[in-house]
Amino acid sequence: MRALRFHIERQDGEARAGVLTTRRGRIETPVFMPVGTAGTVKGIRFEELESTDLDAKIILGNTYHLWLRPGIDVIRAAGGLHRFIGWDRALLTDSGGFQVWSLGALRKISEEGTEFRSHVDGSLRFLSPEVSMEVQAALGSDIVMVFDECAPGQASHEETERSVNLTTRWAKRSKAAFNQLQLDRADTGHLEAKDLSGTQALFGIAQGAGHLDLRRISLDETVNIGFDGYAIGGLSVGEEKSLMFDVIEDVAPRMPKDAPRYLMGVGTPEDLVEAVARGVDMFDCVLPTRNGRTGQAFTSRGKLNIKNAQWVNDSRPLDESCRCSVCRRHTRAYLRHLHMTGEMLASILLTHHNLAFFLDTMRGVRQSIRSGDFPKFRREFTERLGANGE
Ligand SMILES: [Zn+2]
Repeated sequence: MRALRFHIERQDGEARAGVLTTRRGRIETPVFMPVGTAGTVKGIRFEELESTDLDAKIILGNTYHLWLRPGIDVIRAAGGLHRFIGWDRALLTDSGGFQVWSLGALRKISEEGTEFRSHVDGSLRFLSPEVSMEVQAALGSDIVMVFDECAPGQASHEETERSVNLTTRWAKRSKAAFNQLQLDRADTGHLEAKDLSGTQALFGIAQGAGHLDLRRISLDETVNIGFDGYAIGGLSVGEEKSLMFDVIEDVAPRMPKDAPRYLMGVGTPEDLVEAVARGVDMFDCVLPTRNGRTGQAFTSRGKLNIKNAQWVNDSRPLDESCRCSVCRRHTRAYLRHLHMTGEMLASILLTHHNLAFFLDTMRGVRQSIRSGDFPKFRREFTERLGANGE
C-alpha cells in the first residue's frame, strides 16, 4: 500500500490541478506550504493557519533546526513534531542538506556526509543520509525529503557533475535507511490511515545547478531509484532568474506525470504562477513570513513597503483586492504606525496578510486551471502586479 495518493484532475497546458492525499489529509494542488522553520511558522498562530482566511493544508519543518534545538529526544518524548507543536494537518520536513550547505565555509563534505559546526553552540556535528532519515522519522513528518547536496548556482559543469553523482548515492542511502526505519516503526507519526499505508512518504530531489544535461541525468537517476514524489532542488540560490525558469521548463515536464512535483524554496508570487505554468505542483518559501517581519507586503499590485512616508495618512487596506482579516480591519496608516514604533503586532499582521495573499493566489491558480482559464489568470495576475502601488 502506498504512503500517499496523487492524481491530476485537470491539466491546462503544462499547468496541473490535482489532489494529493497524505495520511493527514487531502491537499489540493498546486499548493503553497508556509515554512515552519523551528516548529513555528514565524509570527502566526496555528489557529490562523487553519482559519478560512489562510487554510494552509500543509506546512514545512526544518530538520536542521529541530535536530539542533530542541533535539530529537525532546520531540520523540513529545510523540513527534505534530504533537509537540500542536498541528494535526500535514507536515513536510526538509533533509537539513540545504541548511548545512548554506553554512558555507563552516562545513566539510565527504562521501559519508557533512561535518559542520552548529550555529547554536559551535559544537561539531555530522549529518548524513542515515542521520537525516532518523531525525525525520523522529519528527514523524508526513513527507520526508532525501538528503542531498546542492551545488552553487554558478558551479562549473565538472563540479556540478560530482555533486549530482554524490546526490544520487545519498538518495539511494536515504531510501534504504528510510525503508528500514519504516519497518522498525521509528516514525513517530505512524497511524492508521484508510486506504494508505500510514507510513511516511519519501521524495527524491533532482539537482544539477544550471546545467540542463546534468539536470536530466539527475532526474533520471532519481526516478530510477523510485520515490513517492520528486523535487527540483538547488534553484533560487543566486542564479539568474531566466536560468531558473529555463531549468524548470526543461525539467518539470520530464518528471513523472503521476507523482507530485515540488520546487524547493521558490519564490515570489509571480515565480509561483510561472512555475505552475511549467508543470510544478508544490512550493515552499520563507518570503511571506520573512518579508512580513521587515515591513514588506506582497499585494496583487506588487510589493509595498509599509515604512514609506506616503502611507502616513493612507486609509486604504494593504491590498484593496484582499479579503483577509487584516485587510478587512486595518489601514496602511495604522500598519505603518505599528511598524515605525516597533510593535510586534506589525510583524504579525503583515505576516498574516502575506500568507493570505500567497495562499489565495494558489487558490486562484487552482480554480483557473480547473475551469480552463489559467492562461487568462496568469496574464491578468502578471499585468496587475506590474500596475503597482509604490
Ligand atoms: Zn490582506
